[in-house]
Amino acid sequence: MAEKTEKVIIIGSGPAGLTAAIYAARANLEPLMFEGFNAGGLIPGGQLMFTTDVENYPGFPEGIMGPQMMMKFREQAERFGTRFIREDVREVDFSKGPFRVSSDEHTEHAHAVIISTGARANWLELENEQRLAKSGGGVSACAVCDGALPAFRNQELVVVGGGDSAVEEASFLTKFASKVHLIHRRDELRASKIMQERAFKLRDEGKIEIVWDSQVIEVLGDETISAVMLKNTKTGDERKLPCKGMFLAIGHTPNTEIFGDQIDLHENRYIKVKPGTSLTSVEGVFASGDVVDFTYRQAVTAAGTGCMAALDAERWLAARGIE
Ligand code: NAP
Repeated sequence: MAEKTEKVIIIGSGPAGLTAAIYAARANLEPLMFEGFNAGGLIPGGQLMFTTDVENYPGFPEGIMGPQMMMKFREQAERFGTRFIREDVREVDFSKGPFRVSSDEHTEHAHAVIISTGARANWLELENEQRLAKSGGGVSACAVCDGALPAFRNQELVVVGGGDSAVEEASFLTKFASKVHLIHRRDELRASKIMQERAFKLRDEGKIEIVWDSQVIEVLGDETISAVMLKNTKTGDERKLPCKGMFLAIGHTPNTEIFGDQIDLHENRYIKVKPGTSLTSVEGVFASGDVVDFTYRQAVTAAGTGCMAALDAERWLAARGIE
């Protein structure tokens, strides 16, 4: 019995996946989206479902709550005929077309696949950290998204990490904070030379304090964060550092586990695409959003590359007479 072959399946429902769906649906490709359920700790809608106010997405001068924004993205995708399966994809077969995409309860086939499974921020995995991050209590894994909120203005803030992101976020926060404490577990930054120089310059200007050899071992505060407990990684000494915000910058993990070795990945496990396009190493499989992007990681850049993936898929299908 011949099974139905979809024109395009989209995996993931953050800004990239839903933008791809809007474009694909408007191009009459009748996209089928696996919007996910809880893979990598994410729910449908992706990382923005864990953000409060989004103030940097163009078109929302008053700001918008992350979950509300993703609901609007989804409504727009649905309005043009996107169909949704609310399950995580467990397995794909990209060895030959039509490609197979399976969740626990569905096995679907498609001529083209768009991967927009995103990336998840790494956390310290402390109990109060997770609670306050979910409740908007001053703990976030994205300073660029949340750092400019009024609650953080003229306050002492903490950034955890020693890489480029940590320095970039700490430097961004100096625009608002009374002081930024950069907490790093070693006595040497991992960040690139130029970023290190930026950090040291801000330190010399008194805007950043670098707290070396330290780990956050506990997050204190009820409704909002009030302090972090630090442990010196060399001496074992513990001390309390009062703060009104904590920003994690300890790396991200791309959600590429289900693709195994079926498409080419960078060493850091992000998907490789042909520069300036969404084309992966498998013809007919396209990728967009944070799963390919370890540099910008913004909703608006994800949406932009989601659009590119839909246009690339549409052209690829049209060249094969599938419209
Ligand atoms: P990263 O380079 O992997 O750095 C992660 C940092 O977090 C490291 O300093 C690491 O400490 C620390 N860390 C990891 N796990 C930790 C834990 N459990 N507890 C405490 N600290 C922990 O990640 P990234 O900074 O997000 O950068 C990712 C990539 O994006 C890099 O290639 C970077 O160059 C690039 N990027 C570039 C820019 C830019 O050029 N403007 C901006 C952002 C990111 P250790 O050093 O001890 O391992």
